[in-house]
Amino acid sequence: MKTLVMKFGGTSVGSADAIRQAAAIVKEYAPNWERLTVVVSAMRGITDALIQSAQAAARGDQSAYQALIADLQVRHYEAIMELIPSGEERKSLLEIVNQHLNELSAYCNSIHVLGEVTPRGLDTITSLGERLNARVVSAALRQIGLKSQPVNATGLIITDANFQNAAPDMEATRSRTRSKLMPLFDAGSVPVVTGFISATPDGVITTLGRGGSDYTAAILGTCLDADEVWTWTDVDGVMTADPRVVPDARVIPELSFSEVSELAYFGAKVLHPKTIRPIIEQDIPLWVKNTFNPSYPGTRITAAPQSDSGQVTAISTIPNLSMVTVEGRGMLGVPGIAARTFSAVARTGASVLMISQASSEQSISFVIPTANATNVIASLEAEMSLELARRDIDRIWSKDDVTILTVVGAAIRNTPGVAARIFGALGKTDINVIAIAQGSSEYSISLVLADTDAQNAMRYIHAEMLADV
Ligand code: ASP
Ligand code: MG
Repeated sequence: MKTLVMKFGGTSVGSADAIRQAAAIVKEYAPNWERLTVVVSAMRGITDALIQSAQAAARGDQSAYQALIADLQVRHYEAIMELIPSGEERKSLLEIVNQHLNELSAYCNSIHVLGEVTPRGLDTITSLGERLNARVVSAALRQIGLKSQPVNATGLIITDANFQNAAPDMEATRSRTRSKLMPLFDAGSVPVVTGFISATPDGVITTLGRGGSDYTAAILGTCLDADEVWTWTDVDGVMTADPRVVPDARVIPELSFSEVSELAYFGAKVLHPKTIRPIIEQDIPLWVKNTFNPSYPGTRITAAPQSDSGQVTAISTIPNLSMVTVEGRGMLGVPGIAARTFSAVARTGASVLMISQASSEQSISFVIPTANATNVIASLEAEMSLELARRDIDRIWSKDDVTILTVVGAAIRNTPGVAARIFGALGKTDINVIAIAQGSSEYSISLVLADTDAQNAMRYIHAEMLADV
């Protein structure tokens, strides 16, 4: 049975025009697949607006949340009026919008009285965006002659009670998903499932985390043993670099899961690796495609791509960081300094993005968000007070305004000389490399640069390593 799960992100279903386009895509591909599931996000900006309404209620700003709720009504009304010509279908959809928004008003009023919103309350409130949009998109499919039904994922995806970032119980989810969706496929219907939302075994609404609709698609793809999962977005695929910085950035035709993980970790706005792990483990290929340019093939993500061009794959950057250095001649050969350094950092809750130690062992450097730098240095000074007094450690300092630039690609592991070419490209242009680290996966090399050098460095390295061949 040919099985496909298609997910449309917020922009792809963010207005009547976009929904019409998404519906046309579903109609075009539906005949090729025996079992087709559509997963939808809320309309673009709706999840943010729902969160803002809860926050306004918590701080007692009644007119702010009422205005937000009025806006939500206008956004959905407009889409429905444009998509569905007058009649019963339109009337009942408008009625559903009113019901859901009345529910939202009631939640906001009680948050207002209590003066606080809990994670559980936020999940119930944010679920409304997807619950509304699945109804609208499914109606748009029926409008163009497809058989379709909206499905609330709270009846499919069963999770723990870790609100706002719930983890699925895959066994329970698999059996519910199959028993609910199979009869719909058999009846020739295309289910439109709410992304992002889920429920505990007792039926309390949970969510899978921001951007969680990709995760929904991957979970359903796994449970349905899908042949492929497609995520429709508003770009042509995963790019070799940020096109706003590197004008000749291009779409990457094929990418491995490890490369996606490195890219996501080092700041690229690609799929969160957690969300796609389920389908990659099951060897289901994932395509990233453009709703507004549907004939373009997009990017294919698999466990292990066949083609190995010997080229690196992509460049990404994380700006506005600080590099902290612990240095002193007395550190040479003293065991335990590194462990104590990172325990002291961990106590502050800061997350370390990159570590580099010179082989002379006279310094350890690591990169953290600048917001954490003051606390981290204070914690290190307390931990190392004795060494500082004895001058075994000379100083602990931070260099602010730095960027981590990461070059990602399986080729880094297989092709000699990749690092040399990167440094060659920078050497020609007088860009100073502050520190270097290679990931142990050998899928990436990271450089620390001044923020002011980062964009040029990206362009030079892209021209050297990623220009069209
Ligand atoms: N609507 C949710 C969000 O904005 C989920 C998603 O778009 O994937 O985070
Ligand atoms: Mg989204």
